[in-house]
Amino acid sequence: MIDFSLTDDQKKLQLKAREFAINEIIPVSRKYDQSGEFPREVLQKAFDQGLMNTIFPQNIGGPGLGVLDTCLIVEETAAADPGITTSLFDNCLGAEPILIGGTKEQIDRFLKPLTKELKFIAFATSEPGMGSDVAGLTATARLEGDEIILNGRKMWVTNGGVASLLSTFCRLEGTKRHKGITGVVVPMDSEGVKVGKPIPKMGHKASNTVMVRFNEVHIPTENILGEPGKGFPIAMQTFAHTRPTIGAFACGLARAAMEYAIAYAKRRKAFESEIANFQAIQFMLADMKIHIDAARLLTWKAAWEADQGRDNTISASVCKSFASDYGMKAVSDALQIFGGYGYTTNYLIEKLFRDAKLYQIYEGTSQIQRMVIARHLLSRYNPVFEKTFS
Ligand SMILES: Cc1cc2nc3c(=O)[nH]c(=O)nc-3n(C[C@H](O)[C@H](O)[C@H](O)COP(=O)(O)OP(=O)(O)OC[C@H]3O[C@@H](n4cnc5c(N)ncnc54)[C@H](O)[C@@H]3O)c2cc1C
Repeated sequence: MIDFSLTDDQKKLQLKAREFAINEIIPVSRKYDQSGEFPREVLQKAFDQGLMNTIFPQNIGGPGLGVLDTCLIVEETAAADPGITTSLFDNCLGAEPILIGGTKEQIDRFLKPLTKELKFIAFATSEPGMGSDVAGLTATARLEGDEIILNGRKMWVTNGGVASLLSTFCRLEGTKRHKGITGVVVPMDSEGVKVGKPIPKMGHKASNTVMVRFNEVHIPTENILGEPGKGFPIAMQTFAHTRPTIGAFACGLARAAMEYAIAYAKRRKAFESEIANFQAIQFMLADMKIHIDAARLLTWKAAWEADQGRDNTISASVCKSFASDYGMKAVSDALQIFGGYGYTTNYLIEKLFRDAKLYQIYEGTSQIQRMVIARHLLSRYNPVFEKTFS
């Protein structure tokens, strides 16, 4: 038995997010893209309407939604503005290691305050010298009595400049690769934490991205997630839960690009005809529809698996790579349909083009997703026809 329909609650949620996107995000999208200002007012409204912190459990005052529900919201808001949505979704990324590796007490202590008022929790594995190779991280952790002392730098920390908490990963001194990586929650006002200036970016300008430096930062051991040295699987499981949402981001962006391209193609004339009448244009639009539908199904499947408590590592990488690579292609084709006007800052398609690139990079590049999938194919995949090969 298989069912592709959303529940009534999910349909309502999708509609609510769509209305929020149209009424609260689209009118201010340009402004934030131009100013690079952090969209706190928009996030406050999203928080008030229960569209933030979606995966925070109900027993601590959160919305208690699933990964699929989050994808439904994110597709709508990312269609309106990918950058604002990156800011909106980042609390889920920051909270996920605590929900996966934390105790009940830690979930309560760290996440409950974030359900009472608009506050931020960021996430950091990446460093100036590494991003893809998480096992190669170099920031250190030293256990001394009832404290863990952190040193090193974390790079590209989304919402790092506004967050009160940071879920991060450092390695116990003297350890190598996966062994020794330790998840820890850092209050951002701890002595020795230094936050850099916002990093200038080509897109997602409404999201805050900074470097964070740890200089002898003393954190109580009660902030360690799971056992010291056993944090690597927590980071990987976090990505398996958050990558479907990046698939949803890319679906939203690609859908918006397609809709803008349809509207433009119907009114732009060339060779005494609307360009929508040309088969070359029609096929580009049809390809967008084909790939957006496929990306959404892959995304929903990966999200559903996460919600079922299944290991969705592979489906998360499949949907993330497909949706983000195709998101980039869709917006590039949409811009092509706009011709020269697409290359100006007068039309939103130019902004979407800049925003789309990030999906192929953050939360694991498209190459890293393929590495995850290929490793699975070459080690654990169970071939159907193996015995028929001589
Ligand atoms: C705007 C923005 C926000 C971000 N937010 C966060 C955040 O909140 N928290 C966080 O921790 N990180 C964040 N990141 C970091 C992001 O996850 C990394 O940039 C990403 O994982 C890639 O790492 P890197 O930039 O170091 O590239 P590298 O790892 O140096 O890779 C460079 C290139 O080499 C390729 N490559 C690397 N290894 C292989 C391989 N084995 N085989 C084939 N190709 C390979 C990569 O695919 C890429 O194309 C953010 C990044 C950006 C740009």
